[in-house]
Amino acid sequence: MTYVTSLPLPKLLTQLRQLPPNSIALFTSLFQDGAGEAFVPHEVVPLVSAAASVPLYGFLDQYLGRGIVGGKLYGSATQGSGAAELVLQSLYGAAPQDMQVREPPAGRLQFDSYQLQRWGIAESDLPPGSEIYFGRATMWEQYHWQIIGIIAAVLAQTGLISWLIYEHRRRTLAEVRSRDAMAELANMNRLATAGELSASIAHEINQPVTGIVLKASAALRWLAVDKPDLERIRNTLSDIVGAGQRAGEIITSVRAMFKKDSDLAAPVNLNALTGTVLALLRVDLQKDGVRVETQLDGELPAVTGDAVQLQQVILNLVVNAADAMRTVQPRVLTVRTSRNGSGTVRMSIEDTGTGINEADRDRIFHPLFTTKAGGMGMGLSICRSIVENHGGRIWVSAAAGRGSIFQFELPVAGGRIANHELAA
Ligand code: ADP
Repeated sequence: MTYVTSLPLPKLLTQLRQLPPNSIALFTSLFQDGAGEAFVPHEVVPLVSAAASVPLYGFLDQYLGRGIVGGKLYGSATQGSGAAELVLQSLYGAAPQDMQVREPPAGRLQFDSYQLQRWGIAESDLPPGSEIYFGRATMWEQYHWQIIGIIAAVLAQTGLISWLIYEHRRRTLAEVRSRDAMAELANMNRLATAGELSASIAHEINQPVTGIVLKASAALRWLAVDKPDLERIRNTLSDIVGAGQRAGEIITSVRAMFKKDSDLAAPVNLNALTGTVLALLRVDLQKDGVRVETQLDGELPAVTGDAVQLQQVILNLVVNAADAMRTVQPRVLTVRTSRNGSGTVRMSIEDTGTGINEADRDRIFHPLFTTKAGGMGMGLSICRSIVENHGGRIWVSAAAGRGSIFQFELPVAGGRIANHELAA
């Protein structure tokens, strides 16, 4: 232990700068240096601390925060107030032997956080019960959990927002694409069906036209005689008018079927549509040996929608049913319409065909799913999009015997409309 208190302050500081490692400096007090210059001790502490090349310790808490690392420090304030109490007792005339002299409280282990950091002394190396003062805790040290929480929340929110924007964009794009594809395919499907139907339309129109030609030729012949039978000729002419009108109706219904624009607000009667579809397919169904049975509810309320599109649904389902029965016997197609209590009407198209595997039942409504050699796999997906567009649903189940039942339900229109008031 070397005492350096007898040196003048400048020399003292120089010596402190050159202390060897692994030593410490202990500041007791300094009222006057070796040169006789007077000081206030706590004002010297910062100078000594700044100069010392090793940690500076002390005894008095008064020096904590001025440059000492710390130590077991006495409180000058408590000692001062103890002394003041004795002075007061003396002033009030107490005899010295009656005065109570109290031991000053034991020193407390107190340290300056800044000096600990300066000398690389870990807080964990301090004796138990040490108090640390002047900790300059960073924002991070003080609030790190809150900061982590806020950053995590902001990141999570940013991530969520980005994900939502991405999903929204993706969905919008997908919707646009699927709408375009659906519209295109629905149109393609109509054109494809047009080819299949042309034979049956030709047959339907051929009948009245052949009748017209035969009857007109006969009428011409009857006019050539001297006394023509005008009554007979008049009857024949009205037959010709009737046949012409029938041909006109067929053409009108075909034209309605391929009309591209849609009107979802018109009242539509499913019975009437069924009639039109079965009339159009009559020849094909006959040729395929399909027996058609209809159980149509005479009081069926109208639905609201596009007759052409709904006709397309029925047509697809009937054509599919006929396809499914091509390789089996008997071939019975049953078309039913009925009312539901829940404000909907139901149409069911049952066949005695090959049926559908349990595994395929969900997939058949997906676009491009087909089991047919020349199939497009679009019919049912178009049916579903049309039915759902009309606020309805479509599903398939196994028929009681063999085959399948395709059913769809649509909400009824505002009021009930008699069949004869509705155009098919
Ligand atoms: P595609 O007519 O091109 O095959 P669809 O969408 O109309 O396309 O039908 C998809 C598939 O669903 C058909 O290939 C067929 O396997 C099956 N399917 C549709 N209707 C029936 C039915 N009534 N009976 C059995 N299978 C059917």
